[in-house]
Amino acid sequence: MKVKTLKRKWARAYWLFLWGILLSGFLGAALPEGARPLGLAALVLCAAGMIFGIWKLRCPYCGKSAPRAPAFSPSSGKTQYCSSCGRPFVYDDEA
Ligand SMILES: [Zn+2]
Repeated sequence: MKVKTLKRKWARAYWLFLWGILLSGFLGAALPEGARPLGLAALVLCAAGMIFGIWKLRCPYCGKSAPRAPAFSPSSGKTQYCSSCGRPFVYDDEA
């Protein structure tokens, strides 16, 4: 049986968006009053991207949960398991 995998690119996107949220939060505080909506827009955009990334990383078998900390690279080591059906999360570059 073929193993169903998660796309590594979404795991990476998740972390990039997370950084984007932190960065735009910082930027929003540092920007002058008039430019704050820009920081806020970036924040909302990154939050939406992160949620979309998690949605794309749901368990390919049951679709109920996603890895709590998506693995950025194959070398990060330990396997995470679905909290709903118990199957391991396998990424497309590991299968
Ligand atoms: Zn599952």
